[in-house]
Amino acid sequence: MLGLRAAWRGTQNNVKRVWWRDSVQNRADMVGLDSSILMHPRVWQASGHLDHFTDPMVDCRACKRRFRADKLDEDPWVHFCEATKGNKFTIPGGEACKHCGKKRTLCPACGKGELTEPRQFNLMFKTFMGPVEEDAAVTYLRPETAQGIFVNFDNVLQSMRMKLPFGIAQIGKSFRNEITPGNFTFRSREFEQMEIEFFVMPGTDEEWHQRWIDERFAWYPRYGIRKENLRLREHEKDELAHYAKRTADIEYLFPMGWSELEGIANRTDFDLKQHAQFSGKALEYFDEETKQKIVPFVIEPSAGADRGTLAFLVDAYHEEEVKGEKRVVLNFHPELAPIKVAVLPLLKKNERIVETAKKLTAELRTRWYCVYDDTASIGRLYRRQDEVGTPFCVTVDVQTVGDDKASADEKVTIRDRNTMDQVRVPMSSLAEIIAKLMDGAWPDVFRDHGITKH
Ligand code: ATP
Repeated sequence: MLGLRAAWRGTQNNVKRVWWRDSVQNRADMVGLDSSILMHPRVWQASGHLDHFTDPMVDCRACKRRFRADKLDEDPWVHFCEATKGNKFTIPGGEACKHCGKKRTLCPACGKGELTEPRQFNLMFKTFMGPVEEDAAVTYLRPETAQGIFVNFDNVLQSMRMKLPFGIAQIGKSFRNEITPGNFTFRSREFEQMEIEFFVMPGTDEEWHQRWIDERFAWYPRYGIRKENLRLREHEKDELAHYAKRTADIEYLFPMGWSELEGIANRTDFDLKQHAQFSGKALEYFDEETKQKIVPFVIEPSAGADRGTLAFLVDAYHEEEVKGEKRVVLNFHPELAPIKVAVLPLLKKNERIVETAKKLTAELRTRWYCVYDDTASIGRLYRRQDEVGTPFCVTVDVQTVGDDKASADEKVTIRDRNTMDQVRVPMSSLAEIIAKLMDGAWPDVFRDHGITKH
């Protein structure tokens, strides 16, 4: 658990970093943006959030707890069954009691109170723009990053001279006044989104939508998510958002069941047209070929950095038995591991070992997130790094620095987190070898330098 906590922030930064590299840096058809969190209130009128961004909420009349009505069927419910003299049962969500046939009408938490009729509840956080509250305009913390992209469409088009198809990508905080936050970072009121709005010629939208679904579905396994834990779920017609022609969700098998990781929607030309209408300023693209102005369609892959990080963590978590003891490992892809290399001195009282290890740490740190640790025995230090998911440990020992009996061999040992195999390499080529290992070349390095098989 300690490892998990320590791993969180660094892993999330890495998830965002690889998403940005793959979605923006490596693509000629994408630009990055960082738009405002607070925008003119009419943005939220135009986007439909003021009218439609609601969840149905029900209250328990007895214990006063609140629930999202549309999620109630996903959670188990507590039932005191009269057919079995009031025995208490916990029944899976969506199912009826086997004994009396009753369906859920009572509170899922206390099992006693009646639930109220659903009321629509707007999820946007309100705030005031302007120094004097009474005169100030009411506005909202953004509930998604997407609208900041739409209102900047023309700026980007003009300043970056983009040609269709092209995308604008953004990573940033979004805020939703969720009725039932929970499941660790799965649902929180303040979270980070990684969103792309990809603008295409009308008529090519369905093909581009499918391309983005395929691309995003293939992205998660590239960084370690097991394919059997991922699935695509098409939105039913009656479930589609008001702006969407088709939406597919990428779902992950979280510990609480299959749940959304990312949504990929064909939003048509709805948003650009709405913002044009509300702002009085056309949001169009001039097509050189046909000499016509058109309103592009937009495909939106919208991922959550917090949900993504949680999925990568859950998938990486692994327990095994080694020599009669439990070993906890976060089996992270090296790109996602919060610490890439740990340098560990075998003897913390040997000054030459400590000095060499600290010098190596300082050198490696210029390229990777690297730590030095001498606060426990080597076995304990290895376990600590396994728990936090560090792919490689470098150990400096007596042979490295030499002693009265033998001269220094100037070599260090690198240990692989997953296999616990070790290689002994010259210190002078350590950085170069670690770079190879980060690229997955362990078999080559092991062939050249491997020494121990566990
Ligand atoms: P849900 O149905 O679970 O409430 P949603 O369909 O409202 O999610 P979207 O509006 O499609 O979610 O948002 C895109 C992505 O942003 C989601 O796939 C998810 O990864 C992330 N996200 C949305 N709401 C939250 C939240 N409250 N906490 C963490 N991440 C969230």
